[in-house]
Amino acid sequence: MGIGKRVIAGLGLGDPVIRLGVTGLSRAGKTVFITSLVANLMDRGRMHALRAAADGSLKAAWLQPQPDDTVPRFDFERHLAALTGPDPHWPDSTRHVSQLRLSLRIEGRGLFSGLTGPRTIHLDIVDYPGEWLLDLRLMERDFGAWSDEVLTRIEGRPGADAYTAALRGLDASRFDEPVAQRLAETYTAHLQAAREAGFSDCTPGRFLIPGEMAGSPALTFAPLPADLRDGRLAREFRRRFDAYKSRVVKPFFRDHFARIDRQVVLVDVLGAIHQGPRAVEDMRRAMADILTAFRPGRAGWLAQILGTRRVERILFAATKADHLHHIQHNRLTAILSAMLREARDRADFSGARTEAMAIAALRATTEDVIAQDGEDLPAVRGRLMDGRQAAFYPGELPADPAALLHPARAGSETWLDGDYAIMNFAPAASTTRPGDGPPHIRLDRAAEFLIGDRL
Ligand code: GDP
Repeated sequence: MGIGKRVIAGLGLGDPVIRLGVTGLSRAGKTVFITSLVANLMDRGRMHALRAAADGSLKAAWLQPQPDDTVPRFDFERHLAALTGPDPHWPDSTRHVSQLRLSLRIEGRGLFSGLTGPRTIHLDIVDYPGEWLLDLRLMERDFGAWSDEVLTRIEGRPGADAYTAALRGLDASRFDEPVAQRLAETYTAHLQAAREAGFSDCTPGRFLIPGEMAGSPALTFAPLPADLRDGRLAREFRRRFDAYKSRVVKPFFRDHFARIDRQVVLVDVLGAIHQGPRAVEDMRRAMADILTAFRPGRAGWLAQILGTRRVERILFAATKADHLHHIQHNRLTAILSAMLREARDRADFSGARTEAMAIAALRATTEDVIAQDGEDLPAVRGRLMDGRQAAFYPGELPADPAALLHPARAGSETWLDGDYAIMNFAPAASTTRPGDGPPHIRLDRAAEFLIGDRL
């Protein structure tokens, strides 16, 4: 079904709706992206690359009550006040699904605009944690296969030793709730440490972002090795694992994911590069996993849920590009494009239109040059969290993405090993002129790719 033909049931309106999914792992920049996108669609002075804004056919944008009564509303006003108020600071991050409806008034300027007259399009923005998308991988596995996969994968990752130590000497013939809780807690602590170290494929995703389900049995299990999978403990864990799939993962895909038309996946590529080659490799794998969600095999449970519906466009956006001087942006885009290409190959993906872009949803820096050892380094300057102004050179990105994606071939250089770790900029105090939204980098191009063709 084309999105133009969909009718909002219940509201009695025939206006077309675009459902835009915004996802990415925790701290990737979802909250900042949505807040800045909405503010910039309302005040379009900095949206030149959005055609409908540049040619004036997008006349107005305003917030409306969303159609889904039971989904929390994205707290736009509070987040915008945090970013652009008198003491600018970063807003609280995404912890669950939320939604916001922005309505757009379009008056065509084309040859036939007089025939069609003004029209309204609703943009329903659905914000959800990327961790939940990675649970897709778990749906195709039973408890044993998932345990084996996870226990192999976590070797050497932060916190993994503590978990394997907790398994040692365990009496798996009996089931004790406190033991189950301790295992789940130790395993979750490992997932959190692994996420902080930059690893992306951390399942089950809800263990990291439990929302209102924290402490429930469906979130109180952990992987068990084959020699512990006979007794009562494993029987209960297997049951909870199945409950997690049917009661947590499936409803999310059915109620939220299945209704999305356009998707943006935000990725903190710079963060992963700074963490090192394993984090980059892991991110690329996570991108491939995410792509499979958008093009499920013909049979599978997800294909049944989706029916004939398809996501039409997916944008992978490397966020926080304002950490780099613009002369490095092309390299960042090239790295993300190479990652996307490889992820597409791995996922055997030929579904939606995809694109890769480097953006900053909220630009916190200006450009500068630092003279060091007789060399001029292209730097960025901003206000640090403690109020001081400072200029930094984050280090260099490789000219050839292969140096990152296939480090074995390229030697053992490290990238972004300059000041990157200490570049904690606060959002810039507002310099916004009337009619301008918050400053950004390429947010207008992202919007053009995602929704421009519908306006
Ligand atoms: P979420 O967990 O995906 O919702 O991530 P947030 O939107 O809360 O962003 C996480 C953090 O990344 C923020 O607190 C900022 O420190 C940083 N961040 C996000 N977007 C930008 C950006 O455009 N520029 C800069 N400099 N930092 C950003």
